[in-house]
Amino acid sequence: MDEDARRDLRERRDVKWRAERSRHSSTCRACTADLDWVLTTSDPPQWMPLDQPPTPTGTVAVVRRGAARVGVVNPGPDVDPGGARFVPHWAICVGVDAFRRRHRERRS
Ligand SMILES: [Zn+2]
Repeated sequence: MDEDARRDLRERRDVKWRAERSRHSSTCRACTADLDWVLTTSDPPQWMPLDQPPTPTGTVAVVRRGAARVGVVNPGPDVDPGGARFVPHWAICVGVDAFRRRHRERRS
């Protein structure tokens, strides 16, 4: 990815973060677990719910990029070394079927 594309993605992440962050509850609607929300590193960025609290076995590091907080999946040793690691909530949500259904409904 070249520098312009990287900057463009960062700006779109900022816009998405500011526009949609408040729509995401800190409690899972399917199972009532505590959640934190970050954007993915993908293009276009997607919302990813992270289980709280962090755990040593987590596979996602959270870094700040501009206004947005971004979840880096399977981070290398140079990404927030020694920092907290989280588990994506959709991997463990007991109400995951309802969760997926609601996400689909909201998008349509
Ligand atoms: Zn859940």
